Amino acid sequence: MANSVPFRVGHGYDLHRLEPRPPHGNGRPLVLGGVRFDDHPIGPVSHSDGDAVYHAVVDALMGAVGEPDIGQLFPDDDPRNESEDSAIFLKEAADRLAARGFALGNLDITVICERPKLSPHKAAMVDNLARLLACDRSQINLKGKTHEGVDAVGEGRAVEVHVVTLVAKANG
Ligand code: MG
Repeated sequence: MANSVPFRVGHGYDLHRLEPRPPHGNGRPLVLGGVRFDDHPIGPVSHSDGDAVYHAVVDALMGAVGEPDIGQLFPDDDPRNESEDSAIFLKEAADRLAARGFALGNLDITVICERPKLSPHKAAMVDNLARLLACDRSQINLKGKTHEGVDAVGEGRAVEVHVVTLVAKANG
């Protein structure tokens, strides 16, 4: 199109409810950005592995290029997605982005949870994302915040993720 620019912006958001691990609740092992926190006492109540970081990144990338959202691509009533490693969803998103002729510019990710403390794990999360998206680590920024004890996120009953991305026409 004559008046189009070769860039698209995408926004992704996800929230997962957190519960104690069995037998005290139904929480799965907590996974964020592909990093497993097996010793953490609470985790997401989810159909897949509940990686809210990967889910929000998928929605940002797919939103940028007008593809369906993660709930449409991987329905939570589909038994194939039960306990699924969300890396599968991210790889599918990367394939769809490339198929649309776009390449990743950058991702800016904000993860909000009260615990665990994310700073020691941020580099590993960025490494995982860069590997799955076949991009440079410098294209991915990840920030961890708390909710200051306020509301469900602050009370440790949910984890929330916001993502903004810029993608650009490949070779254009
Ligand atoms: Mg999700």
